[in-house]
Amino acid sequence: MRTLYDPVIYDDTQAVPSYWEATGPARLDAPPLTTSESCDVAIIGGGYTGLSAALHLARDHGVDVKLLEAGHIGWGASGRNGGFCCLPAAKLSIAQMIKRYGLEETKRFYAAQVDGIDLVRSLGADENIDFDLCGDGNLEVAHHPSRLAELEESARALSELFGIKTETFSRAAFTEIGHDSNEQFGGIKMHVGFALHPLKFAIGVGAAARRRGAALYAHSRVVAWERDARGRHLLKTSGGELSAKRVIIATNGFTREGMHPALDGRLLPVLSNIVTTRPLSGEELAAQSWHTDNPICNSRELLFYYRMLPDRSFLFGARGDVTGREADGLRVRDWMKRRLGEVFPAWRDVPLSHFWRGLVCMTRKMTPSIGQLEEDSSVYYGYAYHANGVNTAPWAGRALARMIAEPSHRDAELPAMLAGPPPRFPFAGLRPWYLRAAYQFYRLRDARG
Ligand SMILES: Cc1cc2nc3c(=O)[nH]c(=O)nc-3n(C[C@H](O)[C@H](O)[C@H](O)COP(=O)(O)OP(=O)(O)OC[C@H]3O[C@@H](n4cnc5c(N)ncnc54)[C@H](O)[C@@H]3O)c2cc1C
Repeated sequence: MRTLYDPVIYDDTQAVPSYWEATGPARLDAPPLTTSESCDVAIIGGGYTGLSAALHLARDHGVDVKLLEAGHIGWGASGRNGGFCCLPAAKLSIAQMIKRYGLEETKRFYAAQVDGIDLVRSLGADENIDFDLCGDGNLEVAHHPSRLAELEESARALSELFGIKTETFSRAAFTEIGHDSNEQFGGIKMHVGFALHPLKFAIGVGAAARRRGAALYAHSRVVAWERDARGRHLLKTSGGELSAKRVIIATNGFTREGMHPALDGRLLPVLSNIVTTRPLSGEELAAQSWHTDNPICNSRELLFYYRMLPDRSFLFGARGDVTGREADGLRVRDWMKRRLGEVFPAWRDVPLSHFWRGLVCMTRKMTPSIGQLEEDSSVYYGYAYHANGVNTAPWAGRALARMIAEPSHRDAELPAMLAGPPPRFPFAGLRPWYLRAAYQFYRLRDARG
């Protein structure tokens, strides 16, 4: 199986050096697969998609389900993201969505996105998962005066078309409710979503799935996928094998080429990086007029995303490098430290506590892909949340569970924007070069304001 980035990015034997690992719960002690097992539904991937599918299959439908995860449970993006439970999981503007899918389908998409946020909240309550929920919405900041009108327009569309309550703020007003910075020229608030501890959420959903009857195997990477004489799927790991009637692929950005031919050439994994600082003092917070627990994105194409953590450490995220090599990662970390200090000058000299990176998943479709393979209806998939999987991946997992257990619900639930696979990239081996070109283009656009 081939990878698009340096092998270090896929090294699931390594712990992720994240703030979340340092402040999170104990790992779920799921054993590796060491025997020959069988089940009705096998899931490959122990992030939000796979864990939510396992929980819903076992709890709501009594299905015999087993999950194989290459690292520890939550090792992938789900255990190391920014913890923004927000919307939308798409790289299309609202106008582009309406043009491509029509207004009714765009409304269904946004309704599903809000439902995904509600699902995260209700999983916390129903399964007794404490994931440090904080904030009462999501903020977007104009990084340049020319970008505020665009944000205001999108706030209007969100409330008028999709019933999502929004507010807009001038620079001075945003300083009162959010923060001040060298790249704050007003912003908007969406009154949906919140922030959470992503690893606590992943482990909590995993523990719930297991409590409800799903079997979870960690350190069990699928290295070969065959069909036996009876047509059952045979998933082989280094220690054992799992035979299943149906399979859910839930490997998202960490999918290797060659795992299943149906996915080859369709995914564009992209590195996202996060740094955190040591906890800030009251004086340091006041120096940037910091007032909010809500997660914040700015209006750059290559955006910065940031939030204040419960212990007042500051989390700052940005795009990553294009090779995955350690040295390139460290160069991006230094660039992020510099940019953090340029945007928030009062925090220029505050030391960093953690730096880590991971893969999000984009596609040419620019919206998520959830469904059943056309060429093999016993294989299901959910991926490409376009860096917005905290609400969307658990929702996709539940949708996949329903598709399997109640096939008649399939078409009723999935908005067109989420259904079906993306097209392949032409000359798929050139994807890293497409990414380089896209970054150059976006850098120029961001520089123009
Ligand atoms: C740095 C970063 C910041 C992010 N910030 C946010 C955010 O703030 N808000 C938001 O909404 N989204 C964010 N995202 C995206 C979000 O984390 C993902 O969309 C979401 O977690 C995807 O969940 P998943 O279960 O589909 O995939 P993952 O959580 O990536 O899980 C896939 C799993 O599959 C396993 N796997 C791969 N191949 C195999 C194999 N052959 N056999 C067995 N297992 C395998 C991997 O080990 C991995 O654990 C961020 C992502 C990153 C990397």
